[in-house]
Order: sequence, then C-alpha cells, then structure tokens
Amino acid sequence: MKKVFSFGNGVAEGAGLGKEKLGGKGAGLAEMTALGIPVPPGFTIDTSVCNDYARGVSLDGVHAEMDAALERLEEDAGRKFGDPANPLLVSVRSGARSSMPGMMDTILNLGLTSRTLPALAAGSGERFALDCRRRFVEMYGDVVLRIPREEFNRVLNDKKAERKVASDTELTAEDLKDVVRRDEEIVRRRTGRDFPDDPKEQLWGAIGAVFKSWDNERAKTYRKLHRIPEDWGTAVNVQAMVFGNRGDTSATGVAFTRDPSTGEKRFYGEFLPNAQGEDVVAGIRTPRPLNADGSGRSLEETMPQAHAELLRVRDLVEKSFKDMQDLEFTVEDAKLYLLQTRNGKRTGFAAVRMATEMVEEGLIDEDEAVARVEPEQLIQLLAPVFDTKEKAEAVRAGKLLGKGLPAGPGAASGRVALTAKRAVAMAGDGGGPVVLVREETSPEDIAGMHAAVGILTTRGGMTSHAAVVARGMGKTCVVGAGDISVEEERGDVRARDLVAREGDWISIDGTTGEVVLGKILTRPSEVLQVALEKSLAPENAPVYRAFEKILTWADKRRRLGVRANADTPTDARVAVVFGAQGIGLCRTEHMFFEEHRILAVREMILADSAEGRRKALEKILPMQREDFVGIFREMGERPVTIRLLDPPLHEFLPNEDSAIEKTAKELKVTAEKVRERVRQLHEMNPMLGHRGCRLGVTHPEIYEMQVRAIFEAVAEVVRGGGKPNPEVMIPLVGTEQEFERLKILTDEMAKTVSKETGQPVPYKVGTMIEIPRAALRAGTIAKNCDFFSFGTNDLTQMTYGYSRDDAASFLPAYIEKGILLEDPFASLDQVGVGELVTIATRRGREANKGLKVGVCGEHGGDPRSIEFFHNAGLDYVSCSPYRVPVARFAAARAALAEKKVGGSSTA
Ligand code: PEP
Ligand code: MG
Repeated sequence: MKKVFSFGNGVAEGAGLGKEKLGGKGAGLAEMTALGIPVPPGFTIDTSVCNDYARGVSLDGVHAEMDAALERLEEDAGRKFGDPANPLLVSVRSGARSSMPGMMDTILNLGLTSRTLPALAAGSGERFALDCRRRFVEMYGDVVLRIPREEFNRVLNDKKAERKVASDTELTAEDLKDVVRRDEEIVRRRTGRDFPDDPKEQLWGAIGAVFKSWDNERAKTYRKLHRIPEDWGTAVNVQAMVFGNRGDTSATGVAFTRDPSTGEKRFYGEFLPNAQGEDVVAGIRTPRPLNADGSGRSLEETMPQAHAELLRVRDLVEKSFKDMQDLEFTVEDAKLYLLQTRNGKRTGFAAVRMATEMVEEGLIDEDEAVARVEPEQLIQLLAPVFDTKEKAEAVRAGKLLGKGLPAGPGAASGRVALTAKRAVAMAGDGGGPVVLVREETSPEDIAGMHAAVGILTTRGGMTSHAAVVARGMGKTCVVGAGDISVEEERGDVRARDLVAREGDWISIDGTTGEVVLGKILTRPSEVLQVALEKSLAPENAPVYRAFEKILTWADKRRRLGVRANADTPTDARVAVVFGAQGIGLCRTEHMFFEEHRILAVREMILADSAEGRRKALEKILPMQREDFVGIFREMGERPVTIRLLDPPLHEFLPNEDSAIEKTAKELKVTAEKVRERVRQLHEMNPMLGHRGCRLGVTHPEIYEMQVRAIFEAVAEVVRGGGKPNPEVMIPLVGTEQEFERLKILTDEMAKTVSKETGQPVPYKVGTMIEIPRAALRAGTIAKNCDFFSFGTNDLTQMTYGYSRDDAASFLPAYIEKGILLEDPFASLDQVGVGELVTIATRRGREANKGLKVGVCGEHGGDPRSIEFFHNAGLDYVSCSPYRVPVARFAAARAALAEKKVGGSSTA
C-alpha cells in the first residue's frame, strides 16, 4: 500500500485521503495544492509509518517510495537536493491528526551542507546563508542529535555580548561564521563526530526524529490530557523551503479567514516583512496588518499582488474546508506561498457567531453548527468579561498575585472583604463592589457570597462549597489559589511581596484562575442584558440572537431533559430564562441560613424535646411555605424537586465565641448551653454522620414541618388556579426501609394537608441515589418510588472514599502522577461511579417501569458526563441555572454523536 504522497504544481496524490493518513498539516497541504493554491512542493509520509517505525518493522519499501517522491520534488522545485550549483533546501515537520502544539520543533533549511552553502550565499548573500546554516545546525542539533538547546543559545548570546548588540539581526556575516563554527564544535564534542554533511543522511535523521518524537514524554502527557489515542502516530511533511527573509519583497505571516475573537466575517491577520515564521511567533518585532489601514505599512499597500492572491486563497479554503481557516503564508520575492491551513482556534463568541452565520450562508447545516461549538464555550457568552488589554497590562506590571482553579466563569473586580459579614457591610457602603476572599467558605458565608461580585478561596477544589455555590449563583469564582495566604487577623491577603489589605481592589478571572492586584475594567455580557436584565433589546444584540438561535437548534436535537438546581424564586426565574424544564434540586437548607430564619433553626436545634423542636419549627414553617409558593409560581407546571433537609445540624450552629455569646443572648439561654450543644453535635466524619434521611428518621418533626410547608404551598397555589408539580426528594437513602418510612410520613402529611385545606395536593416522592448501597439495592427501593436522582457528588465521595471537602490536598498530586486523569468531582468517573449509575438505573427500571431517572450532582452540568448520562438512558440532568444552556447544548451534541454511527466524537 502506498505510504508516501507527493504534492506540487497543482497535483496532490493525497487529496481526499484525510487527516487519518496524512495528519492535519499534510491533509491541508494536499487539499490546497489540489485547489490550485500556490504551495511549495513536497511529500507527506503516512501516519501508519510512525507505528511501523516504533515497532521496528522494515521500512525498505517506504525508503524506496521516499526516494521517488524526492525526485519528483526536485523536478517540481527545479532544484536538486545537495546540488552545489542550485541546491534544494527542505523543511521537515511533524503533523498528527489533531494538532499537538509544541510536541516537536520544526527543522528548517535541511540540505544545507559545506557544498551547498556557497550557492545559497551567491544567490542571497553571505550573511543570509550563514544565518540559515546557524538556524539549521541549532534545530538539527536540538531535535535530531538531542543536544540541549541552551548550549547553542549560549554561543549566540556570548557573541551578542562580545559585539555589544541586542539582537541577532545586528550580527555581521563574520560574526555568524564564528557562531556556526562554535555550534559545529559543540556537535563534534557532544556526538564524537562531525555535523552530518550528506543531505540524505540529514533527511533520514530528521524523519526518524519526528517519528521518535511521537513517543517523547511531553507528547505522551499531551495525548493523555487530550485523550488522543496512542496508536494514531504522526505524519511527516517534507517540503521545499521558501524564504520570507530574502529582503523587502519577502515576508511571512498568519491570516484567519474570519475574526477568531468575534467571529466577524472579515479577513484578519498580521505579517512581518523580511522575516521567517518563527519571528512572528517570537514577537520580536511588532507585526503589521494585512488590510490597508491608511498607514501605508499593510500587506495590501506594500505587496498588493500577494494580498490579492491571499484574498483569493481565503475564499477557496473557506469554501473547501467549510470552516474558518488559520493560514500560514510566506512571500518570497513578491510571490505568495501557503505553508499551512487548519481550522482556526476561536473564542466562544466567535464559535457561535460563525456557526450560525455559516448556516445562513449555506456553508454548513444545523447539525454541523451544533457540533462546531463546544458546550463550555457558551459560558463565555454569559459571563462578564475583563478588558483584555487592561488585564495584560496589569500582569505585565507584576501585579499577578497567583493562580487558582477557574471555578466560576467571568471576571470580577472588587474590594477585598475577608469575612462574609464584612462583605455584606461593605457591599452596602457605596464604595463599590466586593470580592469575598476566604481560605474556604461554609454555609455561614452565603450572605457574604451573595453580596460579593466574586469569590476567591485559597483552599478547596472544583466541588468545594465556594465553587458549587458560586456556580449556582453565576458568580465569578477562583478556588484553591494556594500561593496566596489570607490572614483574617492581620487583615490582608498576601503572595510573594504583594499585599492587598481589606478594602483594597483585587481582580479575579474565573475563566483562567488568575488573581490580580488592583482594579480591571469589566463589562456585563450582552446575553444577560437582554434575557435577564431586559436592559437591551434583542434587535440590538447580535450575540444574544446567535446564542438563542444555536440553542434552539440544540433543543430540537436533544433527548435528555435539562433542569436546574435552584433554591429560591430568583434562582428559579433565572433557570426558566435559561431554558430549564424544571427544578431538579432545591436544597432547602439554603433557605435556613437567611438572617431572620437562622435563629429559629438554632432554637430548634437547642430544644431539649421533640415538643420544643416543634415549637421552633412552627416559626420556620410559614417562611418555608412562602419560599415554595414563590418557586411554584415561577415554575408554573414544570416539575420542582424539593429535597428535605440534608446537612448535619451542627452546620447551623455558630462556632466562634463571640457568635456563640450572641446566639445565646438572642435565644435567652446560657452560652454554656450553646457550647454544650455544639460539643454534642460534633462529629469526626460529619459527611458520613448524622445527616440526610437519618435526621428525618431520628427527628421526624423536621421533615414533617418541611413536607407540610411544601403541601400547604401546593394547596395555596392550586387554590390560585396554578398547577404546581412538586416532587419530594429524600436524601442520602441507603436502605429501602429508610425510604419506606419517610415516604409514609410524606403520604400522610399530604392527606392531612389536603383534608385541612380542602384542596387536592398533587405530588410525587422519590429519592436521591448517592450511597453505593442504594445504587445496588435500587431494585427494591424503586418499587414504591416515583423517581431517582443521582447525587453524584456524594456518590463519587462514597465510591472513591475521597472526602469532597478534603480531597483537594491530594487530588492535584494524583492527577499530576497520572493516577487520575481528572478530578472525579468535576467530571464523572464513568467506569466506576458511572457503573453504579448504570446498575441502579437498570435495576430501578426493571422494578418500576415508570421510574423517572435524573442527576443533580455537579456532573449534571459537565458536558462529558452529560454524554455519559445520555448514553446511559437517563431522563434528565440538573445543574446550576447558569449552566443550563451548556447542558442543553451538551445533550444535543451527545444525541448527534450517537446518531453518527461509527463516527468518533473526538475528531
Ligand atoms: C450530591 O450529593 O450529588 C448532591 C446533589 O447533594 P449535595 O451536593 O447537596 O450533597
Ligand atoms: Mg448529596
């Protein structure tokens, strides 16, 4: 079978063979050649040869093919490899199926030997020839001969110091001759032989090095992280050199067929006259624009012919690849050559805009548009953003305090508040927004988190309290910024020699995890202005319209339902705006923390008898009922899953002495009594302790109050003509007996309330599946149960035995060492925890055909986990309101991937 594919002069043997065989770069070169685009001639070696090479399979056949391809290349280029009169020089580049940036350096100017150097010097000047030779020896020495790059860098730097110049462009031919001599000496010393002077030997050496680079550690790690299969291999591209550094009629540059940051259909790019590709990347000189801007410096103005040709190329590649292309080009003596085309990287804004516009242009269909946008990219369209220039300037000025995990999207600038209380007070003082900075947060901090525009913690991971709550609130959040220390007593935040005192401005970027000292300008997202604030009309909001359009397409394609985790009427409203089809989890305990309620909750906890508890609960009941009425009204007929109390009671009691004293005074008991209760409720492992339905079993009066509040709210809304659809959910069930008992309690209360109010009380009762035992016993539990909702946060915690709150101390090390590929609290462990989900779903449905099954852990908003839940046949996922669009989109992509039988979803 053919393994080497030539391209040049309008003919490409590999056209249509695709990335699987030719790699991304090779396929692009073949297609461009076939389209009649000027591409320097060359050949591509099939990715499968990489595997043969690694396995030691004989490559004799491939060698023969390469010899033939080289001959053809010489013909196309009109030069001969190693010819002292008119030498052909080539580049050798790797090119895997999906791009793996930085995996291997390119080798340029290959074929430059002691015999060919004079010809290059005669044609383009001695300095130019020697600079090419220098670059070649360095690249070849590094990539093929494995000599540390620093040794060559040292020679160049020494020379610059000796000549007292800042840039290597200021070195003379004489200087470069000396640099080359010293570089060659390094090679001799390091390898025990002269730098290879036979062009063919150079070529085979370079090709072998490219194949070997597939298996270097850097590449292996990259593949693991990006889930690129080991057996894909890389192709090798050998191509005639063209020089953008041949003088003022030469240039090198990059171009995007559409704007990669906004998606606007305008040609966008930069170039450098008299330069090589690496000069653009290195950012030594400021590049110039492609399109005329009146400066007289643009490509259009300085090389109009090349610019016109580039515009023609732009149309051709967009039509052919049907996607935005990122082009690399070189102009040699005023003639344009294309060196690469690939699908361009883009922001979320650009992805959505281009996908919708390309459908309008008839370039792609709706399925393809949905497949083009990564679900996570939608988040960018919702979040407030930093002004990019301002942030870069602040970082450049040394104001970067540190970096944590990007837990809540967007950007926030505000004044540092070190306690929740201060955050609330400061937020109301008129001095500007506040960022709450804590080591970690707890439910007691909710009010402060609400008051803040952003939350920063120095401990905790992606499912820490701060991260979960911030995402729920749609707030910017950075967690686990371990380099920063927070000192409440000292009243400041520090990192290295930087200090921010309480009240000082700080800026956090929830998309990158960066924490910067000082204020950076932010802008609210257009989508929010239209959908939520209603401060902008849709007709003036193109981003919003594109966002809506693509989500409508997604909704037509998905099978999974999407609900939101929402605790308040406000959350519920946001959820509906973002398209939630119901509430999948209302955590009632969050209602307990509000200022005027917590006291009644504490009174209940401090009471010595069930009777005393009931009295306190009576005070809470009307407040809970009001919450539920508000939520039912917002949600209309949509289902609302309300979870009964879940956390251990000690979470509601104060800890610090001053707070204990204050509570005691308010409740008219002694501080000693409060302290005693705190001691009694203390648990070694509260996550495995007295919480969830265990509280309902031992303190039934608490659950009775809660279900009464729910049903009275139902009756009230029904009386007003509403059709509420409540689902009572029992948390942390491990045995069928627990569920049965609490279901009876619920059913009886429904009867009582119905009788008392004279209203029908429609409802369902179900359970969370978050204990492995419950997953295994699903068949029995499901019999009398209307629904299951997987609490994958706890299910992950209990399946792995990793504490959700403490795992941040070792998870990063586990991920670094490759024991785990990713944080299982962020993306579902599909083979372990996922198997429990599959088992429980199957057993549950076997026992009860009508059983509805959903997920309400954090994984319900994670695209990869959503694909798993889709394939596992679940009915819905539930996630924080601001992630609802992401989940809708991910569900559609999962459905599309399934439809594409045999196709891969990773391409
Ligand atoms: C869960 O455990 O997945 C869940 C949703 O409950 P919580 O996070 O409140 O424990
Ligand atoms: Mg749970």
